[in-house]
Amino acid sequence: MSDTISQALFERARAVIPGGVNSPVRAFRAVGGNPVFIARAKGARVYGEDGSEYVDYVGSWGPALLGHAHPDVIRAVQEAAEGGLSFGAPTSREVRFAEAVRALYPQIEKLRCVSSGTEATMSAIRVARGFTRRDFIVKFEGCYHGHADHLLVKAGSGLATFGVPDSAGVPEGTAQTTLTLAYNDIPALEALFAARGSEIAAVIVEPVVGNMGCVPPEPGFLEAIISLCRKHGALSIFDEVMTGCRLARGGAQERYGLRADLTTLGKIIGGGMPLAAYGGREDVMNVVAPLGPVYQAGTLSGNPVAVAAGLATIERLVPEVYEKLERLGAALEAGLKDATAKAGVPATVQRVGSMITLFFNDKPVRSWADASRSDTKRFATWHAGMLSRGIYWPPSQYEAAFLSAAHTDEDITRTALAARASLG
Ligand SMILES: *Cc1c(COP(=O)(O)O)cnc(C)c1O
Repeated sequence: MSDTISQALFERARAVIPGGVNSPVRAFRAVGGNPVFIARAKGARVYGEDGSEYVDYVGSWGPALLGHAHPDVIRAVQEAAEGGLSFGAPTSREVRFAEAVRALYPQIEKLRCVSSGTEATMSAIRVARGFTRRDFIVKFEGCYHGHADHLLVKAGSGLATFGVPDSAGVPEGTAQTTLTLAYNDIPALEALFAARGSEIAAVIVEPVVGNMGCVPPEPGFLEAIISLCRKHGALSIFDEVMTGCRLARGGAQERYGLRADLTTLGKIIGGGMPLAAYGGREDVMNVVAPLGPVYQAGTLSGNPVAVAAGLATIERLVPEVYEKLERLGAALEAGLKDATAKAGVPATVQRVGSMITLFFNDKPVRSWADASRSDTKRFATWHAGMLSRGIYWPPSQYEAAFLSAAHTDEDITRTALAARASLG
């Protein structure tokens, strides 16, 4: 299944890097087998070290909206690099970048650049706690918000469960300030606010979940978060690290016509470079140092090369990009539904725009409890079949696949055929 060059590299990697990877899901543990070592990527294709070619639906886990190595983005990076890689001082580029982000997200009145989505959510939570002078945060099971201590919690379902850490090394005391609820459960959220509203600093949510597979919000769920937060003096944080600039230029909030107090962005806004941001209401963001008492800093924050890649990407997010993504997404959805129907395999295809998941699950997936009932063994077999047919699908049932503007109708047709063949 995996080529011998990748196998040899994986052996060397495992000797020096835990599990052979710098981020766990890359290790293919959820599907078995060895990961493909990628030598390069262009457009909608990734190429293995052995020269093998794949149609890519991972897209670097989100950033590659325009496709890999877009010539304009590469040019912008080269140009910026010529001028120096990092200064640790303000630059005109980062001002233009901040203005460009605010133009797409009017609810982001002020923002800070950081270097990863993890930093963005961690900082947004600290700001929310500093602003409200409250400690508790609410998150939803199955939502991933990076690997900060207090966010590595999903705990059990039911009404307000005290957080239990998902990871060793997270103090229980830290996890206990995180309250978790089931995604899409409006009554549970109302009950929690009724009981403890005055202690809650913020509710953080993936407005469309990608991190348990693609799970859209039910009508009224996101609205309830915003209005309950407002009523109880808590802040709503929409974590759009994945959905930002993907579901629309202005992310899920533009798509659904909503405005959260704070927004986190990453992935696409960095165009493939380490760049993320958090921001929102001006009165809230004014608590950030040096204006206010909430400390947050970064040696490489607003890095000139990363910002150049981000700006070049944002400037190319024209309406035609989203029209194409919607059209390709609908075609892929139809193709996968047709494939599973013809194979007689119980499955549910869920999609919002260019985020899509084929759940090996006969029922719609609204929450982590639903998602966790998927047939992951069947997914693993299917994934291996796709890989052997040149389709690079995310190596986990619980990761959304991404389309890019570089995919073609031909790619979709080929993918649908491979999907059918891989179902046996
Ligand atoms: C990827 C992701 C993060 C974490 O971003 P990193 O850059 O990997 O630290 C946070 N939130 C969401 C919704 C994500 O998809």
